[in-house]
Amino acid sequence: MQDENHLPSANVDIETNCWGCGLRVLVSPHASVFKCGWCGAITKQNVVKSDKYIRLRRLRDRCFVCIVLLFMLFFICAGIWAVFPVIFSISYFHGVFHVTLAVILSISTLFSFCLAAFRPAGTPPMILWGSYPTVGKGGLENYTFCHYCSKPKSPRAHHCRSCGVCILEMDHHCPFIGNCVGAANHRCFIIFLICTVVSTLYVAIVTSYSALYIWPPLDYRPVSRFSGFVNSEFMFRVLKEKILSFLRSAVFLPVRGLVLVYLFISSVSVGIGLSVLLWQQLSYIYVGKTYLSHLSAVDSEEMMERDCQNLVRFFGCPYSTTVYLPSYWKSRKSHNK
Ligand SMILES: [Zn+2]
Ligand SMILES: [Zn+2]
Ligand SMILES: [Zn+2]
Repeated sequence: MQDENHLPSANVDIETNCWGCGLRVLVSPHASVFKCGWCGAITKQNVVKSDKYIRLRRLRDRCFVCIVLLFMLFFICAGIWAVFPVIFSISYFHGVFHVTLAVILSISTLFSFCLAAFRPAGTPPMILWGSYPTVGKGGLENYTFCHYCSKPKSPRAHHCRSCGVCILEMDHHCPFIGNCVGAANHRCFIIFLICTVVSTLYVAIVTSYSALYIWPPLDYRPVSRFSGFVNSEFMFRVLKEKILSFLRSAVFLPVRGLVLVYLFISSVSVGIGLSVLLWQQLSYIYVGKTYLSHLSAVDSEEMMERDCQNLVRFFGCPYSTTVYLPSYWKSRKSHNK
């Protein structure tokens, strides 16, 4: 009986306040999401969010940044110790040239890393909200309320649970730089990737050259040929013997040579991994997207222009000033076109 009494009232629209402009709105009790007809703010009902593990995530990020910085410093120091005596023994001019090149690459990589890691990723602009005359019509178009930050979140912003703040044009949270990649540091992140890829390529070339220069003489055992002509089996045996003799002589390699081999292998593996990441990032910029907007279903419906101008704009003038303005201004601008 009790249920019958309650059922009709359950279908009556309930009155609630819009979080954006404070105006009273009527919504269906079943609607979990509704949009204000005046300011355009989106309300998601029954959302209670709190973050218990933010301190742990911050600690993890700081540890990662320290490890990456220490690894980079170790890489640079080990490279200087292992490579330069060999290069200087070849020629003094080559030595000076490579010292200059190594210093430029090391400083640019470390500097761009620090910029990407320690620069705020992109704080959304402050926007007035909460009272009707202050918030104009469409003033909070498609804005949602961030329950972690307790403030409006623009449609182009995302809340990062590792950083604990909303990030404008968030691309992704990178644990290795311990920071988000967003509007303010995206360019620094891409420059850091480019510097690292170029540096690892340089390290791979220099370490392989130096390692081969100091490699002990090969203990090569000539392969006897049974038949008069060269066949594939003979070629295979020659190749196998050459590789084995190369590995046998590696036993007599000095410590400097072992460090060179280690630096070569790690620079090649890091270089390949970061090249893939750089390629992926550049392809998103080319189509005018970020990694997150690529993932979200809403933005994928938008037809973004595939254009090299996107890359030029990114590196020249990364984000036009309109990004920092509320979205209704931008939509008004596009209507005027
Ligand atoms: Zn409203
Ligand atoms: Zn937030
Ligand atoms: Zn983050």
